[in-house]
Amino acid sequence: MHKNIKNSCINDFDPSALDEITAVKEILKSIKTVKEIETINIIDALGRIASKNIKSSINIPSFRNSAMDGYALNIKNLKKHKYNLEEQGISLAGKAYNKKLKDKKTLRVMTGAVIPDNADAVIMKEMAHIGDDMISFPNFIQKNQNIRNIGEDIKKGDIVIKQGKQINYVDLGILSSLGIGSISVLRKPIISFFSTGDELISIDKKLERGLIYDSNRYLLFGLLSELPVQIKDMGVVKDNEEILVKKLKECAKVSDIIITTGGVSVGDADYIKSALKKVGKVNFWKIAIKPGRPLAYGKINKASFFGLPGNPVSAAVTFQIFIIPAIKKMLRMIVSSRLTIMAQVKSSLSKKRGRVEYKRGLLEQKNGVNIVDITGLQGSNILSSLSKANCYIRLQSETEKIKKGDTVEVIPFNIDL
Ligand code: AMP
Ligand code: MG
Repeated sequence: MHKNIKNSCINDFDPSALDEITAVKEILKSIKTVKEIETINIIDALGRIASKNIKSSINIPSFRNSAMDGYALNIKNLKKHKYNLEEQGISLAGKAYNKKLKDKKTLRVMTGAVIPDNADAVIMKEMAHIGDDMISFPNFIQKNQNIRNIGEDIKKGDIVIKQGKQINYVDLGILSSLGIGSISVLRKPIISFFSTGDELISIDKKLERGLIYDSNRYLLFGLLSELPVQIKDMGVVKDNEEILVKKLKECAKVSDIIITTGGVSVGDADYIKSALKKVGKVNFWKIAIKPGRPLAYGKINKASFFGLPGNPVSAAVTFQIFIIPAIKKMLRMIVSSRLTIMAQVKSSLSKKRGRVEYKRGLLEQKNGVNIVDITGLQGSNILSSLSKANCYIRLQSETEKIKKGDTVEVIPFNIDL
């Protein structure tokens, strides 16, 4: 047991809880994909999802050009003249040079400049010896060296961006290199969220005994900001079923996904499940994971509803496990399979059989070996240990005891490459 660890909340095994994988599958099955598309300027397309394959209508490069500042020549001609040639002229980047290489001649070329059709090599400037009226070249020269061929990067007709790809900075480079100024992307799903709890006050108010600042709304805002979605902050709602019902109805009218935090457990003031039942359908509400066991998933008309637990760490973890895949499905995003990274634990860990556990860890590499330790208290209210973490340690449902030095799966985040 790690010396810092004392659990303030021990959850017992709950046989009625759905396992994590089944819960994700159930959620994905019920998520409808976004159909509407919009055409936007590429400068606004960062992070958006391509709605169809994008093909190139040109070759890149579109003309043979030099990869170096140097001299373009024809190897046969060079050999004939014993590796000594005269300069015929200069080809600069941005100027169309349309002449051919003449016998006995070489052409001074800059990087990116057009080279004559009958040139078959470029010698870098540093390798040539410039005499008074002749330039001498080394006698080991390979055909096509330092020449960029038409279409060697992208061929006319190539698919450069696949449907479902999230546009990144490289794509902006690719699209602009092809002269494509606007693209068609999927509409941003509308995600509305609100916090629930009588104890919550906003950060501009004075903190009184028994009250806490609402941090989940900020946490969710941060998590959602990294996704191509439209965020609707719907504020804070008291622990009151009637008001919750009203708010849920209001959100359902304008949202693809509704997220709430808090009020989803079995406490006297937990009304989310009963409110959801009144306005929509509860698909399930207990999952065998820690943190995050009580999580209500359901539908309100066409909107998907996620009732996340109130503890901030539970809210963050369940968002990452359940809501991110749902948003990705909604956007038909290409999802690359996650790399499994294993690490040795620095100290023994406690774990209950029958549920998957996500612990907050700090992953390091020492002499090429991955080593992980937990970052402190693991209660789902302890946000500071998530702040210190750079990974989750994912412990399988069947696992019971983890001894110091055992190998565990880690899911890194916030890691500098
Ligand atoms: P609940 O799920 O409503 O029982 O809340 C579980 C714990 O999370 C309680 O200690 C709440 O005070 C806390 N909590 C609920 N909502 C928030 C919030 N928006 N920000 C910070 N803590 C919260
Ligand atoms: Mg509450």
